[in-house]
Amino acid sequence: MISPVMPTYARAPIEFDRGEGSWLIATDGTRYLDFGAGIAVTALGHAHPKLVTALENQARRVWHVSNLYEIPEQRRLAERLVEATFADTVFVTNSGAEAMECSIKTARKYWSATGEDRVEIVTIEGAFHGRTIGAISAAGAGKLVDGFGPMLPGFRQVPFGDIEAMRATVSDRTAAVFVEPVQGEGGIRPLEAEYLRELRRLCDETGALLGFDEVQSGMGRTGHLFAHEAAGITPDIMAIAKGIGGGFPLGACLATEEAARGMTPGTHGSTYGGNPLACAVGLAVLEEVLSEGFLDDVRRKAGRLMQSLAGLADAHPGVIADVRGAGLLLGLKLVDGTAPGKLVEAGREAGVLTVPAGDNVVRILPPLTVTEDEIGAGIERLDRALTAMEREAAA
Ligand code: PLP
Repeated sequence: MISPVMPTYARAPIEFDRGEGSWLIATDGTRYLDFGAGIAVTALGHAHPKLVTALENQARRVWHVSNLYEIPEQRRLAERLVEATFADTVFVTNSGAEAMECSIKTARKYWSATGEDRVEIVTIEGAFHGRTIGAISAAGAGKLVDGFGPMLPGFRQVPFGDIEAMRATVSDRTAAVFVEPVQGEGGIRPLEAEYLRELRRLCDETGALLGFDEVQSGMGRTGHLFAHEAAGITPDIMAIAKGIGGGFPLGACLATEEAARGMTPGTHGSTYGGNPLACAVGLAVLEEVLSEGFLDDVRRKAGRLMQSLAGLADAHPGVIADVRGAGLLLGLKLVDGTAPGKLVEAGREAGVLTVPAGDNVVRILPPLTVTEDEIGAGIERLDRALTAMEREAAA
C-alpha cells in the first residue's frame, strides 16, 4: 500500500525531536552535528533566539492578511534587500522554485513590455532551479524532466563553464541567461569569477538580461552576502530562498527597476508570498547576517573548514578525490565508484549529517553560526566515517 506521504523522497530513517544551534537531537536522544543545515537552509542554526523571538512576536500580532493590503514586514524586508544589493525591487515568495518562476516571468515580461520578441532563456547543464515545470524546463535534463511530458519551449542549455558555448548561444534574440554562481545540487561547482564577468559583458553586448539563481549560494553562505559579489559584477534579476528564511519557508525575486519594467499590478501574485510571519523571520535573518563582523567570521571559519577537509582528503585518498566550493558551501568529490550516499550514511552513523549532490559529491553545509569547536567535532566524525568506509571496503 502506498505511503500516506507521497513517496517522492528517499528518506533516512531518523526523526528529530529538536534542534539547538548546529545540533539536531533525534527522538532516541542521539545528537547529530548538522553539517547539512536542511540543505543550506538553517543559516543561523536551529532555534536561534533572535529568530524564535521574531516569529513569536509576529505570531502574537498577525499571521496573514494577503497581498490585498499593505504588509509592513514585507516592505521592510524588501527595503533591506534593496539597500544591501543591486536590486531596486523585490517580489517575495515562499520557496526557491517560486523565486525562479518569478525571475523567469520577470525576464520574459520585460521583453514583452519593450515590444521586442525575445523569449529564449539560456541556462547551464547540470543546473538545478527547482521542481516546477518552469524550473525543470530551465534545467532541462535527466530525472528532473523524465516522464513529465513536454517541457516549456524557449529554454536552451549550454555546457558548464564553457564561455565560448555561451557566446555561440546568446544573441540579440536571447531574453535572459540564468546561472547559479555556484551549482549546488549539481555538485558544488563554482563558476570562475572571470566567467561571470565575461557573461556580464556578453549580456551587456547583446542586451540579454542576466539572472542569478542564488537560492543555495546566497545569504552569506559563501562568505559574501551573495556569491556573485566575489566577481565584482551584478545581475539584473536574482532568485533567493533557503537561508533567507532560516528554516521558515521564504524566497524572493530581486530585480533592477529596468528589469522589472513589465511587472505591473496584476501580472504576478501569490497568496502566501510575503506573509507577515515569513517576512518577520526573514528580516531577523538578514539583520543578523548583515551585522558587524558576521560575514568576516563566516570567511574565517570557512578557511578553517576548507583546510581541515583538505587534510581529510589527504588522509583518505581512497575515498575523497577533491575538495571544492566557496565559503561554507563545500563539497567532497568522491573517487569513482564510491557513491555519495555511502559517505552520507557513514557520516550519519558517526553522528554528522551531510547532503549528497550530483557529480559524485557530498555537500558540507554547516550553519553559518557553526563554532570552531563544532568544526573540529565535525571533522573528527567525518574522519571516523571515512575510516569505517575504508575498513568495510578492505574487509
Ligand atoms: N535553485 C537552487 C539553486 C536550489 O538549490 C534550489 C533547491 O535546492 C532551488 C532553486 C529550489 O528551491 P525550493 O526547493 O525552495 O523550491
